[in-house]
Amino acid sequence: MPPQRDRVPAPRVPSIIVHGGAGADPVEGRDELRAGVRVAVLEGWRVLAGGGSALGAVERAVRALEDHPRFNAGRGSVLTSAGTVETDASIMEGDRLQCGAVAAVSRIANPVTLARRVMEASRHILLVGEGALAFARAQGLPECDPEALVTERQRVRHRELVAATKGTVGAVALDRHGTIAAATSTGGLAGKLPGRVGDSALIGCGTYAESSTGGVSCTGDGEAIIRVVLARRALDYLQQADDADYAARVAVDLLVEEGRGHGGLILLDWRGRTGWAHSTPLMPVALMSAAFTEPRVPF
Ligand code: ASP
Repeated sequence: MPPQRDRVPAPRVPSIIVHGGAGADPVEGRDELRAGVRVAVLEGWRVLAGGGSALGAVERAVRALEDHPRFNAGRGSVLTSAGTVETDASIMEGDRLQCGAVAAVSRIANPVTLARRVMEASRHILLVGEGALAFARAQGLPECDPEALVTERQRVRHRELVAATKGTVGAVALDRHGTIAAATSTGGLAGKLPGRVGDSALIGCGTYAESSTGGVSCTGDGEAIIRVVLARRALDYLQQADDADYAARVAVDLLVEEGRGHGGLILLDWRGRTGWAHSTPLMPVALMSAAFTEPRVPF
């Protein structure tokens, strides 16, 4: 039996937070990142403001970031050592711990939507590679030319072996019914071996949502995040401390000290309070809630 959450009287104040990946600070390119996360948070917010679900909001926000060529997800994904794109994504709805994920998928412009289909229309949680593509076809999801996901920027980086700035994307939302959802999408690490799967496809590592506690989306060194099961651990800290910012900071310390890697995460608690932290120079973040008149883009 999935745990029953402690229902506190609805309605809640809907909120959403998005990130655009923990990584280096491009300084010059900050405005573009700011504009990108702002548009994405507003897209997600429109769903919540219209009475839609947290799940619909995180999917919409992540799709906006997948479509944006500047972020490492969907179009704009970093390239594998073979010069190809292989994406990972996951999504989770925290009322009944329903979740779906895909890994090492090419030819799909919006992997987060495919992850949602896995959750809603299959008996499984994680589909990879060719099997995930076959499922996408059976679901009637549009397939794209894999080249359409490769941007000139990533091609140059690949050729010149430039360490790509990271730019994984994620979102966490709380809707007026008190449901929390989280989603993460990425092209992974630049130069990764074909077939490598990172934390963004793994429930509990890159993504987790439990409506009675909160939701999390992580970014950074996937192997380190997996090592410490970061998303779930961040929610454990949130449960203990009831302070979203503190939980985010302690979780990032765990990532650095025990995971032996760098990254960051965003977190939203059951009351709609946000927290985020990162050990890298930058992690673009944007948030919006019924308590604000405008989205906040605090970086
Ligand atoms: N966590 C992602 C991965 O390892 C990369 C990132 O967040 O930048 O695939």
